[in-house]
Amino acid sequence: MFNLSRYFSTLSLILIGLAAGLLGATYREASQAQLTVLAEDRNAAMARVLENALGTPLAAVVASSVGKDASMLGEGGEAQELQSGIDSLMRDTGVVEVSVYNRLGVAVFSSDAARVGSSGLDLPGFRAALAGKTTSEFPTPEGNGSDAGIFTTFLPITGEGKTGEGVLAIRQDLSPFMVSQRQTMWLGTGVVMLVFAGLFLAQLMVVRRAQGILTEQAERIEAARSTLEAQVDARTEELRRTNRQLKDEIAERVQAENKLNYLAYHDPLTGLANRRYFIERLESSLVDAARQNRRLAVLFIDLDQFKQVNDSLGHGIGDELLVSVASGLCEHVRLIDMIARLGGDEFICVMESVRSDDEVVTLAREVIAAFDTPFHIGGHDLFLSASIGISVFPNDGSSVEELLRNADTAMYRAKAAGRGHFQFYTPEMTREAQERIRIEMLLRRALEHGELSVHLQPQVESTSGRLVGAEALIRWESPELGSVPPTRFIPLAEETGIIIELGSWVLRESCRQVMRWQASGFVLPQVSVNLSVKQLERPEFIAVLQEILEETGLEPSRLKLEITESVVLAVQDAFSLLERLRKLGITLALDDFGTGYSSLSYLKMLPVQQLKIDRSFVTGIGHNPEDEAIIHSVMALAKSLDFEVVAEGVETEAQAQFLSQTGCHQLQGFLHGSAVAPAEFRARWAALPA
Ligand code: C2E
Ligand code: CA
Ligand code: CA
Repeated sequence: MFNLSRYFSTLSLILIGLAAGLLGATYREASQAQLTVLAEDRNAAMARVLENALGTPLAAVVASSVGKDASMLGEGGEAQELQSGIDSLMRDTGVVEVSVYNRLGVAVFSSDAARVGSSGLDLPGFRAALAGKTTSEFPTPEGNGSDAGIFTTFLPITGEGKTGEGVLAIRQDLSPFMVSQRQTMWLGTGVVMLVFAGLFLAQLMVVRRAQGILTEQAERIEAARSTLEAQVDARTEELRRTNRQLKDEIAERVQAENKLNYLAYHDPLTGLANRRYFIERLESSLVDAARQNRRLAVLFIDLDQFKQVNDSLGHGIGDELLVSVASGLCEHVRLIDMIARLGGDEFICVMESVRSDDEVVTLAREVIAAFDTPFHIGGHDLFLSASIGISVFPNDGSSVEELLRNADTAMYRAKAAGRGHFQFYTPEMTREAQERIRIEMLLRRALEHGELSVHLQPQVESTSGRLVGAEALIRWESPELGSVPPTRFIPLAEETGIIIELGSWVLRESCRQVMRWQASGFVLPQVSVNLSVKQLERPEFIAVLQEILEETGLEPSRLKLEITESVVLAVQDAFSLLERLRKLGITLALDDFGTGYSSLSYLKMLPVQQLKIDRSFVTGIGHNPEDEAIIHSVMALAKSLDFEVVAEGVETEAQAQFLSQTGCHQLQGFLHGSAVAPAEFRARWAALPA
């Protein structure tokens, strides 16, 4: 660091030294000049006094000197007079010597006898004095011996017309003056030096104080700087940390976003693309396909028995099954370009570039084949199959929505064809589907608007032709659609659940009709009502049935319920349920018998009293021996298991005869009458004896 004190001291001392030197020199110069003037004045005064007092002997000495031998000088009376006069004049003055030179430069007289006879020509100032000018010679300080401190003045000898006659040399001893002068000088210089020293010290103190302040400030600045530096370091570190944290946070956020993104676009269960991903992806594929003039196939896959597995084995197994199905599809199906799960047991595959329908067929077969081997889940071997609906771009739609809807429609059609089928979409399917939607909408209104009615078809005893009962068959007279056959709307009602309301209505209406007739005197021994599986699945079914019986007052024994074999397959606890119905006193008939897969083993245990031979076998009577053989065996079976047999669709006498001969108990068919409105039925049958 800059040391102010040291620089100040050095500089000050140099300056003080210089000043002292300069001062000393100037003082000496000035005092010497002053001394010169003073000494010269005194010598001049001495000369004047001398000339005034001793002018005459002086002149005489000078004048007599010329041509005189040196040894003769200083002799004579004038010289004696001059000698004594000068001696007395010199007394108590600083003058130490008075010498007189003649114009030839010879010292003709001197108070110092030794000088007499010496030449003054070489003396400085002699010639000038001879010319009339007073000059002085200041003693050199280094002068020594007798000359030390001697101040000499050469003066012309004046007096009237005497200039140029000679020269007076007056020597004055200035040593005491010079000593005092030197003392004064030293004193002055000393004082000045002291003052300087004092000043220097005072300034040094100030400077040192300043230096102290500066040092202190410098230290403070240094401290502040290091504090600042530390703060900057800390802040930098903090920023670095924040930066790191920020980076971590960003990374975390990106990860979270990726995860969210993944979740947003994937099915969490199977890891397949979800509906949203599928839609977005297919949209862009469609744009590409349209641009490149390519065809593209969408396969809608629905698992056929998933619901049963899920219901009977639980959701855990169901979920595992879906995961296996997903991985199976991914592994075994080569031609898929994209696979997604739309939810539930619905999967969707996309084939991006379709050159021919054959390729799509191959893909569909691959998918179906992927279900050939059972899935091992939770210790179960689960046999599954898939139904596939296919729509192809651009023929079957140009938008994702359209293609999806049409593939879905085709899938329903495939399902209807049985398990493990695929079906290409056709425009008729849409028309049918649209019609279905329309029918569904109208059917919901039909009940309230009174468009439905129950018709009755007679059932007669085969041996006597006696009326033993009637089957209640629903009829729908729609203002928009005209009369709609039950084959068209019953399956729809079953799918949509409308059958529950509708079935109860038919049941109530049938019982009421019998009671109304009864009240008016027409007795129908028994009424037969068709039951849907969906109705039986309802836990409240028996309660509803009992309520209807109570409400209408019909004896249970006069009610017959027609169920199909599917009840036994689909309804849980079908046996105990049927058992309860039978215990109520209701008659149970197995409808459409022969068309299903009824096994003898369960048929034996089934609590039904009647088998209703399906119309398709009756139709074959007389020309299809196979049908006849079946009828024979049904009869034999019924006999051994103690079932009554009813035949439906009896149209001819020949059929009636065949059936009664083989032991069929009751007949139903156009031969005895088709289903007609209650009024007509009564008109036709009331007249006959019961
Ligand atoms: P299904 O129970 O087998 O009913 C017998 C069907 O055969 C009736 O058709 C009847 O009109 C028809 N039929 C009767 N005799 C003959 C005949 O000699 N020749 C021909 N060719 N057909 C004959 P429908 O009334 O069109 O009923 C069709 C199906 O609709 C019924 O088949 C039944 O499964 C269902 N269905 C009708 N009404 C109801 C109902 O109220 N509830 C339920 N769940 N299903 C019903
Ligand atoms: Ca029936
Ligand atoms: Ca039937």
